[in-house]
Amino acid sequence: MSRPLVIGVTGGIGSGKSTVCAMFAEFGIPVIDTDQVAREVVVPGSEGLSAVVAVFGLDILTPRGELDRAALRKLVFQNPALRVQLEQILHPRIRAQVAAHIAKVTTPYCLVGIPLLSDRKSQSYLDRVLVVDCPEEVQESRVMQRDGLTREEVIAIMKTQATRAQRLALADEVIVNGGDLHAVRAEVVQLHQRYLALAEQTVDA
Ligand code: ADP
Repeated sequence: MSRPLVIGVTGGIGSGKSTVCAMFAEFGIPVIDTDQVAREVVVPGSEGLSAVVAVFGLDILTPRGELDRAALRKLVFQNPALRVQLEQILHPRIRAQVAAHIAKVTTPYCLVGIPLLSDRKSQSYLDRVLVVDCPEEVQESRVMQRDGLTREEVIAIMKTQATRAQRLALADEVIVNGGDLHAVRAEVVQLHQRYLALAEQTVDA
């Protein structure tokens, strides 16, 4: 079978990525979540977890033998060289696992959710990038409400992410999610048709 069209979905925290992906999923479109894949590649007993332990030691395991993400985050936050090492372990494994998920897709296209997409080169398997966008004040109030954080805490997270302009520069398509859910659903319906048409062209090519 020919491969599906692969659409990367990105957007800042609170922009509405999960909301938009859930709407595509209602049309039966598979959504591969790279955050979830990042957890899959280091489950207890995995080769990925052994590779992480080989570099970071047994201290980054919880008493139950799971990866202690908070401890690991703290370590790499203090040491950029370690962060690079960790990425060198995780990124190829995450890519391989995403490819394995894509290989199982039977629909004309699928979505890959990538919260921190910062460039296209490292994600060459993406055919297109869909950016979910909204004004920063809207992001802030949504995340304050969803996660019970203060505005300052949300702004601190947003500062660690790509800027709105950087993200928009990567976009083939943009969903503007600054209004109500009806408006965003209408955009999803249109894009679904567009991606089906593009997938058909790609298959014919
Ligand atoms: P992300 O996955 O990008 O962090 P979410 O999809 O979780 O963002 O959306 C953040 C919060 O805002 C969620 O609680 C979601 O239900 C809400 N939300 C998203 N889009 C809208 C919208 N158009 N109108 C109202 N609430 C929204």
